[in-house]
Amino acid sequence: MARKECLELKGTACLICGFDSEKTYGVPGIVEVHHLHPLADGGERVTDPAKDLIPVCPNCHRIIHSKDVGTYTPNEVRRMMSLPELPELE
Ligand SMILES: [Zn+2]
Ligand SMILES: [Zn+2]
Repeated sequence: MARKECLELKGTACLICGFDSEKTYGVPGIVEVHHLHPLADGGERVTDPAKDLIPVCPNCHRIIHSKDVGTYTPNEVRRMMSLPELPELE
């Protein structure tokens, strides 16, 4: 399962803001997985969890998808929070 693979590869902390539900609340696994390169046409493609998926907290995930058209990139969300951009999130 792509979600499980993503979390095993990249951990369960939000890659955008660093939120970790286990550290903050003592409840592990409150994390979502965002697809960085979704297919515009909805066609079939193999998802590579290493390249295409990132763990994000529910708040950052809502922000990513709050754009009127398309999605904000992880670095755009970091900029909103006055955090420096990270090359690995592009
Ligand atoms: Zn976050
Ligand atoms: Zn998403």
